[in-house]
Amino acid sequence: MDGLMMQSQLTLTGIIHQALGNAPNSEIVSVTADNPGHRCTYRQAFARAGQLASALAELGAVSGDRIGTLAWNDHRHFELYYATSCSGLVCHTINPRLFPEQIGYIIQHAEDRWLFIDPVFVPLVQAMGETLSSVEGIIVLTDRIHMPADLPPGYFCYEELLSSGSSGYQWPDLCEDSAAALCYTSGTTGKPKGVLYSHRAMTLHTYGVLMPDAFAIRHNEAILPIVPMFHVNAWAIPYAAPAVGAKLVLPGPRMGCGQTLSKLIQQESVSIAAGVPTVWLALLKYLRESGETIPSLNRVVVGGSACPWSIMEEFEQKHGVYTHHAWGMTEMSPLGTYNARVAETVPPEEAKNLRLKQGRAGLGVEMRILDPQGSPLPHNGRAFGTLQVRGPWVCERYYRAETSALSADGWFDTGDVATIDPLGYLTITDRTKDVIKSGGEWISSIELENFAMTLDGVAEAAVIGLSHEKWAERPLLVVVPEAGASLTPDTLLGAFQNQFAKWWIPDDCVIADALPHTATGKISKKALRQLFTEHLWP
Ligand code: ADP
Repeated sequence: MDGLMMQSQLTLTGIIHQALGNAPNSEIVSVTADNPGHRCTYRQAFARAGQLASALAELGAVSGDRIGTLAWNDHRHFELYYATSCSGLVCHTINPRLFPEQIGYIIQHAEDRWLFIDPVFVPLVQAMGETLSSVEGIIVLTDRIHMPADLPPGYFCYEELLSSGSSGYQWPDLCEDSAAALCYTSGTTGKPKGVLYSHRAMTLHTYGVLMPDAFAIRHNEAILPIVPMFHVNAWAIPYAAPAVGAKLVLPGPRMGCGQTLSKLIQQESVSIAAGVPTVWLALLKYLRESGETIPSLNRVVVGGSACPWSIMEEFEQKHGVYTHHAWGMTEMSPLGTYNARVAETVPPEEAKNLRLKQGRAGLGVEMRILDPQGSPLPHNGRAFGTLQVRGPWVCERYYRAETSALSADGWFDTGDVATIDPLGYLTITDRTKDVIKSGGEWISSIELENFAMTLDGVAEAAVIGLSHEKWAERPLLVVVPEAGASLTPDTLLGAFQNQFAKWWIPDDCVIADALPHTATGKISKKALRQLFTEHLWP
């Protein structure tokens, strides 16, 4: 028997109506290339988004068309998110940190009809020239006076295009299964693959993000996403903030700048911020050196790669900021697990162990771990295996793929290796491709890195598996020292003794000036392995 409730569609348009009804005067504060202190209200931003949707329709955009963006976090990118998705178009965010060939491939694969780009990316797009055959026009995200000079035909000014639209635009009724947004994975293996998010998935995921044991954003808060809007929709913050009416603070191109972040947090009374570990390293370093404080900030969300304890400790002890560990991926919209605040009654050592885990799945995500033969492993916190997930905001197949991305019984393989404990806490022990296979056993590179990061004078650390005559692979530790620290391989490796089983301890350690990073700011293990292919074991 069917239930007898309304068939109301779960679409992102609901967020526009919610924000206009409940929080029309809440603000979006942005750093843009042409204005370091731009402010507008949700009322203004959604009015402009409607006008832009009307201008896009005038241009000839029709339902399902992909509209590419190459842009930082600011109010114009926010307007584009809604103008496209909520008018039936697909907001295709592109990561400008990828190699130009990858960007070109992605635009062609998505068949973007128009590209909206920040002025700083004009040379990048110009260099791709004729190869972007699907693109009918390029719109530069600025006003007339800040338009770059001498642009060839085909380039337009965003503010001019927007003002050509009608101010009476009516958002259409959309089907919840229609596509809202498209984001390509960075393609650390093979070609980038597109994840095509539906309105329904994005809406349910927004609820998931807002849950009390997740981001728990309130209407009277200010949130700073330091995760780029070009990567997995900035972890859904551009949806979650207006959904509850919170102030949205967007740092523009200055995301890696500790000084800008500190200033924005102080000026806008930011209470929650989200980002990958590298941005926190930059902010904490700036605060250490400048002596500034950020009293309004009470929690940060860290994901994208494992969060070292040193970050959690410094945030808490020096700034009274609680760090929440979260895990997810492009194919999961991205939220998979979230580590909620551990009760104060939990003894410190136990709390530390819990907080280093990636957290628990909220309602909407199911997880299982499998052994190499594909049999489910127990959730005992010790057995580790391939992590698979399913749920309404998990990808079923990649854009333009002919076959499903799921296993025969309907699960998505995350490419991560993990344990799950009896209370549901997930611990990512590795990527399938990074786990070190030594003499038929697995060594977790992440656990070794986490430990290395706790040692004095270590700014960044990575552990990679390199081929070894006897053991197939052995771990190599690569460490970047903090400025002025004098570290030696012997003292570093000495610190691992008695902390790990003997066969887990890296066979060698190299002190390096820097580590290679991927386009999403993670350490590139692939590039690192290539650098050390010729490494001779001691
Ligand atoms: P990319 O495709 O660029 O690597 P994703 O953001 O989709 O981008 O990366 C997802 C992967 O990042 C996960 O599968 C996992 O390996 C890693 N990851 C994400 N969050 C964490 C975390 N908190 N701890 C450890 N690894 C993480």
